[in-house]
Amino acid sequence: MVGAWGVNSYLLREGSSTYLIDSGLIERAPAIVKAIRAAGMRVEDLTHILLTHQHSDHAGGAAFLQWRSDATVACHEMDADAVEGKAPRLGPWFARTLFRTHPVAVDRRLKDGDAIGPFTVVHLPGHTPGSVAFYHASRKILFAGDAVVTSRGRATLSSPWATYDRDEAIRSLEKLTKLSIDVLVPGHGEPLTHGVGSALRAAWERFSHLPTPKHWTLAGPEGLPETHPKG
Ligand SMILES: [Zn+2]
Ligand SMILES: [Zn+2]
Repeated sequence: MVGAWGVNSYLLREGSSTYLIDSGLIERAPAIVKAIRAAGMRVEDLTHILLTHQHSDHAGGAAFLQWRSDATVACHEMDADAVEGKAPRLGPWFARTLFRTHPVAVDRRLKDGDAIGPFTVVHLPGHTPGSVAFYHASRKILFAGDAVVTSRGRATLSSPWATYDRDEAIRSLEKLTKLSIDVLVPGHGEPLTHGVGSALRAAWERFSHLPTPKHWTLAGPEGLPETHPKG
């Protein structure tokens, strides 16, 4: 785990492949390079950069690390255009204003259920349309990105203002309650290493009973509050 400015990336070596799950902010790419070296590897050893979603705190450093390593880049097909710079990136306005991003070519556009190395892709739309988790079925580890994060030992959803569609995010949380997970490694917060199933069910219970005002989310103009009443 490489934590940098509150955003987690994960490095996993398996056989002859080395996976980086999320590439952090571009400004923090040197911290990831340092962590790769501290793990006894070279940046050139990276073979796969897997992006859980398009936000710049997770995909911002991908172009730099891909250039240094020649690794392949994969993300869900619904976030791929934004990662490649062919569609506007979603996210809170201040994040889009403050954080630099460099487009990177996506070598593999993922779909729900795809296998990539030891992982199964779990499509969890809501936080962004193409948010995914990477599920390591044999080790029962879920690399969750921002589809579910942790805070003070609890599983929770990421902030409404950073979320594209809150209702969909809650439905995705329910999907996760059906997976067998021993270790939950989130994009923000500390990993959960015990009681993951009950933590996810508790989170889903909490959120599924909350009203979801549409204007909390980034779903687009139809989700904004009415400021000019008709007539
Ligand atoms: Zn995010
Ligand atoms: Zn994030």
